[in-house]
Amino acid sequence: MRIAIAGCGQLARMLALAGWEMGHHFSFIADPGEGTDCVAGLGEVVVWDEETPFAALFEALGSPDVVTVEKEHVNVNLLEGLAEYCRVAPSPDAIRVCQHRGREKTLLQSLGIDTAPFRVVEDAPSLIAAVESVGYPAFVKSCELGYDGQNQWLLRDTAALDALADQMDALPPLVVEGAVHFDRELSLIAARSLSGEIALYPLAENRHREGILLTSEVPADNVQAATISQATEIAHTLLEHWSYVGVLSIELFDEGGKLRVNELAPRVHNSGHWSQNAGVTSQFTNHIRAITDTRPGATNPGQFAGMVNLLGRAPADELLEAADVTLHWYNKSIRSRRKVGHLNVQSADRQQLQKRLVELESALYPDGETL
Ligand code: AMP
Repeated sequence: MRIAIAGCGQLARMLALAGWEMGHHFSFIADPGEGTDCVAGLGEVVVWDEETPFAALFEALGSPDVVTVEKEHVNVNLLEGLAEYCRVAPSPDAIRVCQHRGREKTLLQSLGIDTAPFRVVEDAPSLIAAVESVGYPAFVKSCELGYDGQNQWLLRDTAALDALADQMDALPPLVVEGAVHFDRELSLIAARSLSGEIALYPLAENRHREGILLTSEVPADNVQAATISQATEIAHTLLEHWSYVGVLSIELFDEGGKLRVNELAPRVHNSGHWSQNAGVTSQFTNHIRAITDTRPGATNPGQFAGMVNLLGRAPADELLEAADVTLHWYNKSIRSRRKVGHLNVQSADRQQLQKRLVELESALYPDGETL
């Protein structure tokens, strides 16, 4: 099939690399000025702006059978325009909801799925009232375009609240969230095919540094059966709500076994990268399978798997000599804090996997170095 991907970053790259192995052909939709190094050589790149008619865009993309996304911040008009010509998966509605924290949390609430207590605010009085209602510390996030901890404020006291309230006229709509006192952060990568078959990967345990994902470990350790059932129910509820097609990623807070959803991503996710080398069908392959109406492949690794992000740095050659480590490099230039690649690692033994994750992390980020 011919598949067009909106976005030209590393997730588009890894989707296309997985899809090429299955005989599919790719093209990519770039925003004006968007970097395209990650997808160089993998298919035609077409720059789209609102002036371009959809018929011309569709043709320039090679008349794809299906259009998908590698990011949620895609103009929904673009997806709806292309939907006149071919299938778009996931649906523009799922993308529209997931690109706005307020819409996303409101949907989760309406489906009976727990989140942090929250309110959407658009002016200083409603910001102040919301923070007073959720209490300190309060997490304040822009509804749109926030990721990796950007466009977020952690308010610890009234002085911080007043400072933010003073800027409110210049700020976009915000979500105010009460703090969740979680024990750890988990994520669930779920896939649903066009025909409705669902496959879930095991829960991943994720560790962050300076607001950016640093490592994932799979399956998460010490997870009770009730927690797995709760995660499974959340995934099924969401996938079925949208008749979702493709991979949906669900970021979760684990509070003593009780889960709250922090965020959804209507796409493959950094915390699912481990699946590329763990003896399962990777999240990238399963996304392509789902959107081309092929049953999802195996998601349960018979071993323990982990991932360490390469944030603003390349690994030393010695790290790559080990048989248990695989490098995935995104073809990007190195900049501080930028995700430029990741290392996957596996072991038959959990302790050994955890030891390897610590070794790789300390070799890459000596002395807990800041990014
Ligand atoms: P986000 O951009 O929403 O994923 O937030 C970035 C990180 O901030 C999360 O991975 C959490 O570690 C932390 N965080 C966000 N929201 C909350 C919350 N309501 N309570 C506690 N920690 C949070």
